[in-house]
Amino acid sequence: TEFVTANELANMMDVQVNQIIASCMSLGLFVSINQRLDAETIALVAEEFGYKVEFVSVDLAESISEYEDTPEDLKDRPAIVTVMGHVDHGKTSLLDYIRKSDVTAGEAGGITQHIGAYGVKLDSGKKITFLDTPGHEAFTAMRARGAQVTDIAIIIIAANDNVMPQTIEAINHASAAGVPIVFAISKIDVPGANPDKVRESLANMNYLVEDWGGKYQCQEVSAKHGTNVKQLLEKVLLEAEMLELKANPVKPAVGSVIESTLDKGRGFVATLLVQAGTLKVGDLILAGSYYGHVKAMFNERNQKIEEAGPSDPVLILGLNGAPQAGEKFNVMESEKETKDIATKRLQLQREQGMRAQKHITLDEIGRRI
Ligand code: GDP
Ligand code: MG
Repeated sequence: TEFVTANELANMMDVQVNQIIASCMSLGLFVSINQRLDAETIALVAEEFGYKVEFVSVDLAESISEYEDTPEDLKDRPAIVTVMGHVDHGKTSLLDYIRKSDVTAGEAGGITQHIGAYGVKLDSGKKITFLDTPGHEAFTAMRARGAQVTDIAIIIIAANDNVMPQTIEAINHASAAGVPIVFAISKIDVPGANPDKVRESLANMNYLVEDWGGKYQCQEVSAKHGTNVKQLLEKVLLEAEMLELKANPVKPAVGSVIESTLDKGRGFVATLLVQAGTLKVGDLILAGSYYGHVKAMFNERNQKIEEAGPSDPVLILGLNGAPQAGEKFNVMESEKETKDIATKRLQLQREQGMRAQKHITLDEIGRRI
C-alpha cells in the first residue's frame, strides 16, 4: 500500500519537501513532490527527522469502494483557484469583483452567502471555482492535513507596494505544493503604482514573468475598478487547460472539507468541495471523525440543490459534528462501518493528543489521524 505523498509527509513533519526528496535520494529513491510513498520509505524518512510513524488499521477497504476510473469516465472539471498575497494587497477586493461579475449572477440573484468557496461562470461559458477562505492560513491548515484542494494559485501583489513577506510565503506554499502560479499585479490605478518594480522583485527571486521573457503568467489589474480582471481570468483558464483537469463524475463523491460550523438553527453546517464523483441529498458521508446523511444541500446562491459534481462547492446540513478544514470526506454505504470508523478516528485523535509530539499516525487510505 502507498500512503501519503512526499509533499504531504513534509507538511506533517513541518519540513521542506526538498528535504524529504533528499532523504529518499539517500535511500536510493528518486521521488517527485506528489509521488506516494510506501510504508517502509515513510518510516525510514520520518525516523531521519526524529519522527516515529504508527500505521493503524481503520478498516476502510470494504466500506470505501475503490473505483478504477477508466479514461472514458474522466470528464473535464473546473479549476479550483486560491488567491493569496500580502495583507491589504487586494485579495478580498479581487474576489469580490469576480464574485459580482459572475455572468449567472443576473439570472440567479448573485452569490449571497459566504460559504468559503464559490463557482463562477465566465462569458466564455467556462467555469472556475474560487476558494475564498480567510487568508492563506486556511490553505496552510488544509495542506498540513494533507489536503490538496488548489489547482492554481493567484498571487496578488500591490503595485504601489512590492513583494512582501506574506507574498514570499504564499509563493513558497504554492511552489512546495506544486501548484502553478499566476501573478496579479494589483492596484495599478493608484497614483505612483509601479508594476515593473514588482516584476523586478519577482525576477530577483527567480520568478521571471512572461512579459519579461519568463514562464510565469502575470496580469496587471485594478480590483477596485475591475480593470483587466477578465484578462487575469483568461490566463487562469489557460493555465487550467494545460493541467487538463479531469474527474469521474459518476461515482460516490469524495472531496475535502472547506469549513464547518455549528449553526444555532440548522445544526452542523459544512462547506464541502466535491473533488470527484457526485454528491447527492441523502448520501451518507464520513468527514474526518464525523458522519451523517446529507439532509439538505445549498449552492453559493443559497439555492437548494439535489446534487453536486466535481469542483462544485456545496454547503451541507446533516453531519453530527464539525470536521476541520482540510479533512477528506467520502460517501459511504454501510452506516455501521461509518460509525465504527468515526469512533475509531475520534479515539485515535484523543490518544494522539496525549502522546509525545513527534508522532505521525496514518490510516490505510493515507489519511492523517
Ligand atoms: P486584502 O487584505 O488582501 O484582502 O486586501 P483588500 O481587498 O481588503 O484591500 C485592501 C485595501 O486596498 C482596501 O481599502 C481596498 O479598497 C483597497 N484596494 C484593493 N484593491 C484595490 C485597487 O485595485 N485599487 C485601489 N485603488 N484600491 C484597492
Ligand atoms: Mg481580505
